Amino acid sequence: MDKKPFYITTSIPYVNAAPHIGHAEEFVQADIIARYERLCGRDVRFLSGTDDNALKNVLKAEEAGEPVASYVSRHADIFEDLLKKLDVSNDDFIRTSSDERHARGAQKLWQAFKPQDVYKKSYKGLYCVGCEEFKTEKDLVGGECPEHPGKKLEEVEEVNHFFKLGNYTSELEELLVSDRLKITPESRKNEVLAFIRGGLEDLSISRSRTRARDWGVPVPGDDDQVMYVWVDALSNYITALGYADEGELYQKYWVGDADKVHVIGKGISRFHAIYWPAFLLSAGVSLPTELFVHGYLTVDGAKMSKTIGNVIDPLELIAEYGTDATRYFLARHIHPFEDSDFTRERFKEAYNADLANGLGNQAARIMKLAQDNLDGPVELSEESMQLQKPFCDLLDRYEFSAATALIWEHITKADGYIQEKKPFSLVKTDETREEGKQIIAKLVQHLAMIATHLAPIMPETADKIMTAVRENKKPENLFSRKD
Ligand SMILES: [Zn+2]
Repeated sequence: MDKKPFYITTSIPYVNAAPHIGHAEEFVQADIIARYERLCGRDVRFLSGTDDNALKNVLKAEEAGEPVASYVSRHADIFEDLLKKLDVSNDDFIRTSSDERHARGAQKLWQAFKPQDVYKKSYKGLYCVGCEEFKTEKDLVGGECPEHPGKKLEEVEEVNHFFKLGNYTSELEELLVSDRLKITPESRKNEVLAFIRGGLEDLSISRSRTRARDWGVPVPGDDDQVMYVWVDALSNYITALGYADEGELYQKYWVGDADKVHVIGKGISRFHAIYWPAFLLSAGVSLPTELFVHGYLTVDGAKMSKTIGNVIDPLELIAEYGTDATRYFLARHIHPFEDSDFTRERFKEAYNADLANGLGNQAARIMKLAQDNLDGPVELSEESMQLQKPFCDLLDRYEFSAATALIWEHITKADGYIQEKKPFSLVKTDETREEGKQIIAKLVQHLAMIATHLAPIMPETADKIMTAVRENKKPENLFSRKD
């Protein structure tokens, strides 16, 4: 068994708007992995947080006529609340504006860059505020940013610090080809490799203080500039561990032999697979070991947008269906790597079929039989308390949907077994009562095995089922049908 420490992070979202269902997806995916690794006996550290320093946060605050700090803090609170309501087990939450450890760490990283990697020059280019990134001709599709169609690019001319990414071309290529920085899925790795092989241009890593509206992490030794938001944002993964003072957490989860996994969306793979390792290489800091890159969610076939009015608020879903139902849907019915479409109809259908009529009904049925017919709690076998290999193999590859489907195969199997053996009839007559009780005990073992596997995906439900098994009692209604 792998006993190396395990460090996992979500990306840190911009806080220029309330969270949508795509954020919930990433939080749940990262949490399933964190909980799974803990169940495997590993020492896990799990970080989430918010990217407060983006220019688009500042612009939104200006639009709202609110001071940036209070706007950012108000929105960051909503993200933190979402993590709690999703039952996400993060150990830490970093805010890049207000956490003192962050600015100090980001500045330390900057100062550690090799002098030959950084220079200052005047630059003119097209800036996409949506991406917080300068775009070159080859990035654009029909003159527009493909991530933000219809949004006008801003023409910017100013003096900035630049980072010579090209100094790291061969090191980055080797890093990805060798899987020393592993990218899952493979298709994203190939995209990034193609981008590197197309030639890496120097990257602007600072902004004029004026254009940044005096918001962000100051560039050490240059009062006129703040750090480009991505330089400071990426560093959150180590600043949160106390990189500024190189403390115990940093040593254990970053410097040593820990597995270090960043969970991110496909739109930011370049930042994490090229810029971030290049910065770390320049600064002589250890590298992450893996990127898990998930797809995007559309809603009713369209990209989520306020204009269309199809933004799904995960907090609303949780209020209506509950935390575990939301986690279940995101794990089972959203593709881990490809884009997926979300519709409320599918959510409700899945809820009724898989949870109310499926898992909830079965747990109630088995435990009612156990409560009425068994003399006491069933003694649980080692086997029903252990994760099975096929399930682990799937989660090791971030195959959340297939892993969850595997649990539902067991639920279907148990339903068939109940229909076939009819323990509810067997317990009614003296001659067959013992046989009926044995079948019920077997079903309870099986239900405990199901709860064991549900734990990383639906922790509260798993707990409720396990408690019912231990007390030999029918559980409270787990999922009521929705009409
Ligand atoms: Zn863009």
